[in-house]
Amino acid sequence: MKVTFWGVRGSIPSPGPATVRYGGNTSCVALESGDTMCIFDCGTGIRELGIDMVSRKKPVKCHILISHTHWDHITGFPFFTPLYIPGSEVHVYGPMHHEKTLEQIVTHQMEYSYFPVSTYQLAASLHFHDLKEESFDIDGLSVTTCFLNHPVFMLGYRVTGEGKTVVYTGDNEPYYDFIYTETGDSDVTQARDDVQKLVEDCNSRVVKFVKDADLLIADAQYTPEEYETHRGWGHSTVIHALDLAEKAHVQQLALFHHEPTRNDDSMDAVEKRVKAEAKKRHLNGMKVFAAKEKMVVEL
Ligand SMILES: [Zn+2]
Ligand SMILES: [Zn+2]
Repeated sequence: MKVTFWGVRGSIPSPGPATVRYGGNTSCVALESGDTMCIFDCGTGIRELGIDMVSRKKPVKCHILISHTHWDHITGFPFFTPLYIPGSEVHVYGPMHHEKTLEQIVTHQMEYSYFPVSTYQLAASLHFHDLKEESFDIDGLSVTTCFLNHPVFMLGYRVTGEGKTVVYTGDNEPYYDFIYTETGDSDVTQARDDVQKLVEDCNSRVVKFVKDADLLIADAQYTPEEYETHRGWGHSTVIHALDLAEKAHVQQLALFHHEPTRNDDSMDAVEKRVKAEAKKRHLNGMKVFAAKEKMVVEL
């Protein structure tokens, strides 16, 4: 399997000289196994991926696995060139919602109020798949989904093929007891114990989902210091990402969904900090790195 990072940034594109080494495009990762192409999220990074796919001069067939429909994960969709080419077959998967279908959410950004080309002008054969927690097959790859903690329906994806497993968390914050954390109310001890148990169970469930992955691509938006003022925003710290990788015994950890205000030098420092922490924990068998645009990982 070959994994290529096309967009590694969280929240909003952050182009410019200060981010040129890591890249400023939002979430998009390609996973290729033989002729099968899966794409995690369609942030702005999917624009260049689409151009690359079309340059291969073969009819495009691909599977876009959307973690959730926040802007930074879908805004590249209208700029995905294969959508405009007859003969392309594009499958789009993502979490179900109560009020709208996945198709409505993704394509409404192409209404004339927002975009000059409507979906009925797309030439590709387009298929939408609303998902909940389930397992299914994509051309020989086995895919399992798991709801993770973010302020909207959010699915992580676990993809296995050729004896290797890649897990993509999308945006994810560890579960925590927000009532006690935010109020400090410790009067109802039994209730607190129950909530704490529930929190532990939910976090264990995530570890089980990630277990023994060859590559974990994990939300690592904040430093622990930044997290103090962003708790509840639905993102992990770089140390949360390492904690998850350690508990799940993964082989490689890609820090991903970088904070948009972080420049290249700060990214180097963050990566160095996490590598030092991994060394301190004696995680010598685990490779840890901060994902960069155009980086390729062969598994
Ligand atoms: Zn995001
Ligand atoms: Zn999000």
